[in-house]
Amino acid sequence: MKPIELSFEFFPPKTPDGVEKLRATRAQLLTLKPRFVSVTFGAGGSTQQGTLDTIVDIAKEGVDAAPHLSCIGSTKESLREILRQYRSHGIRHIVALRGDLPSGMGEMGELRYASELVAFIREETGDAFHIEVAAYPEYHPQARSPRHDLEAFAKKVKAGANSAITQYFFNADAYFRFLEDARKLGVDVPIVPGIMPITNYTQLMRFSEMCGAEVPRWVAKRLESFGDDRESIRAFGLDVVTDLCRRLIENGAPGLHFYTLNAAGATKAICERLDL
Ligand code: FAD
Repeated sequence: MKPIELSFEFFPPKTPDGVEKLRATRAQLLTLKPRFVSVTFGAGGSTQQGTLDTIVDIAKEGVDAAPHLSCIGSTKESLREILRQYRSHGIRHIVALRGDLPSGMGEMGELRYASELVAFIREETGDAFHIEVAAYPEYHPQARSPRHDLEAFAKKVKAGANSAITQYFFNADAYFRFLEDARKLGVDVPIVPGIMPITNYTQLMRFSEMCGAEVPRWVAKRLESFGDDRESIRAFGLDVVTDLCRRLIENGAPGLHFYTLNAAGATKAICERLDL
């Protein structure tokens, strides 16, 4: 069996304490030898400096560090400058997204979709970057239709993406069906499942509402019933997500990308249970 490739996603910390906490998180997670780690980017450039600083910090540790870059609310000139900065720091891997502007804030920008950003990165920098894009096994909340969303995904890949990371999901069938449908459209790049460890019921429900990920009723009901009992939430969440990952791996997922939320505990526990 091919070894499972791991990757970990972080967000740029806002305080010196947060920077230290993230370093400690990385120290624990890097022992799992991820293929790369990534750092999110606030749409419209709100975390531009924080993303760059965090990426440079990680790259110094000898790890393949991939900044996320979103195009919404940005000019081509500002995107060009960000790409230039990354190249000057030796960064060769990027996660290209459209992003979401907070409601009522700002202009759309010069590029409307992630496919246009991927094409722009290729035009500007050739093969300098390995480009990841986002995929949605349960479909993007603004998609006109599932078919349309799949075609939009295929378009990003044809524009020059090398691989994809999915939005998180708890239903493995959604992922395998998406994979099959994408292959029928000629998409042959790796599509790595995004994994959200469960540690906090309220936060999970809020995120899922925003991004359109479905939390199965039986999972939500059980989590809700634990109330403030964080230990039970954690233990149940660990069982559910480990089972999901096991099923994904056994059925051929090429890797796992963890949304760590800058904490090592749950991600590490899942990987250890899976013997990764
Ligand atoms: P797109 O692929 O452009 O799709 C957006 C919508 O437009 C979809 O509904 C699609 O169906 C539709 N669409 C696409 N092309 C066309 C077209 N030609 N015509 C009509 N409709 C079209 N957000 C951040 O702000 N910062 C981050 O760091 C970040 N990291 C993420 C990492 C991952 C792995 C994932 C899965 C998401 C991340 N997001 C991030 C969230 C992401 O920005 C949002 O989900 C956003 O709403 C869509 O981004 P996209 O790149 O998938 O957009």
